[in-house]
Amino acid sequence: MTDIPVSHPRYASLVARERVAEGVRRGYTSTQGLIAQGRGECFDYLIGEKTTPAALQAIRAAAAMLLLAERPALSVNGNVAALASEEMVALAAALKIPLEVNLFHRSEERVSKIADLLREKGAVQVLGERPDAAVPGLDHARALATRGGIYDADVVLIPLEDGDRCEALVAMGKKVVAIDLNPLSRTARKATVSIVDNIVRAVPLLTEQVRRFSGTARADLEAMVRDYDNQRVLREAVREIQEHLEGQTEESEE
Ligand code: ATP
Ligand code: MG
Repeated sequence: MTDIPVSHPRYASLVARERVAEGVRRGYTSTQGLIAQGRGECFDYLIGEKTTPAALQAIRAAAAMLLLAERPALSVNGNVAALASEEMVALAAALKIPLEVNLFHRSEERVSKIADLLREKGAVQVLGERPDAAVPGLDHARALATRGGIYDADVVLIPLEDGDRCEALVAMGKKVVAIDLNPLSRTARKATVSIVDNIVRAVPLLTEQVRRFSGTARADLEAMVRDYDNQRVLREAVREIQEHLEGQTEESEE
């Protein structure tokens, strides 16, 4: 990887960019993943490259929802593998559930490379190499899923997912937790809980909340889920961008 000085003001962002490029070189991230990363960077810039209060609300609701789920599932694609494989393995361990490799631009080679990477990082069970079901409403390659994983899950975490697939999972009656830096994306609009944050920051916080709530009474978790309003949180996320931008332009006028 290219050496990036830790003192660089945008160190974290540059490291993330380098990781996605490395994912492409190693063959587990698609070239389209580079474009998705660029889009993400743009929105991260707009929110101030930090976890906002709206994102934290969504992270708490997501943790409660995952803990209440009968069959939660965690989806991993090429960008997720490049940026947060260890973090996803830790989340799966905290929930004691498998990870499922689930690619938009599916190739068997990429699926097995990502599965190997996750196992290398300590994943106990990785699904997705032998899909045995199809999500209705999507064309074949995009629809593939695994029974015991995403296909029959009641709650699915989909970081950096396409809007169509998010919608198809919701249409199956699932609760969908998205991690997507763009509060206006179709994914964020369609999900049950939209975490508008960088996956690199959001997944460790989500794991921390899962651990923190693991002893919490079901009734309290249910109340947290009931009180959560995703449309309101998305409006707040947009407002946070506006406020951040107003702060920035005022600073530069001084
Ligand atoms: P839509 O949901 O509107 O169809 P899209 O599928 O066209 O959106 P893509 O560029 O294909 O959007 O997907 C990338 C999405 O993932 C973008 O919304 C982008 O903001 C988001 N994203 C990219 N990198 C990250 C990241 N590191 N953390 C969180 N979200 C990210
Ligand atoms: Mg899309």
